[in-house]
Amino acid sequence: MKEGKSILYRGQEYEVRLIAYAGKSAQIIFREDKFNIYLNNKLSGGKLQSEALQQLKQWMVEKAEEEIKQRAKEFGMIIGVHYNHIRIKDTKTRWGSCSSKGNLNFNFRILMAPKEVMDYIIVHELCHLKQMNHSKAFWNEVAQYMPDYSIHKEWLKANGRTLYVL
Ligand SMILES: [Zn+2]
Repeated sequence: MKEGKSILYRGQEYEVRLIAYAGKSAQIIFREDKFNIYLNNKLSGGKLQSEALQQLKQWMVEKAEEEIKQRAKEFGMIIGVHYNHIRIKDTKTRWGSCSSKGNLNFNFRILMAPKEVMDYIIVHELCHLKQMNHSKAFWNEVAQYMPDYSIHKEWLKANGRTLYVL
């Protein structure tokens, strides 16, 4: 992660600033529409950049834990389904999954996508608790809670790869 680069968060680009400081542990402060990453001033070059990237990823994973769980709770009530655990994962190909035991997994990177896209993925997985397939009945279910879901599905197809900067 280089100084002056930007990162997607909830569908918006935010500037990343690297700030050298004497503290040993790295910190991220998100404010004034910027990610300020405080990094030990002895770090330089590739080490500095990989540490910045690592910090940003960790921040995103932690935030995803909060935001995705909260949103799943809200939509779960609307849809009227119950799930067991929600796990936030660093998956290489999938955005979300639903097991027959009622456990949901989500890729932390969906927090970087536009809010509606993240909501779509959550609604999609929650609807699998009613229909464990991709049948017509399943898509009707999704459309009931998100009539414009196909726009978000398309966004993922076209732009999903851009979320893999982290
Ligand atoms: Zn599915």
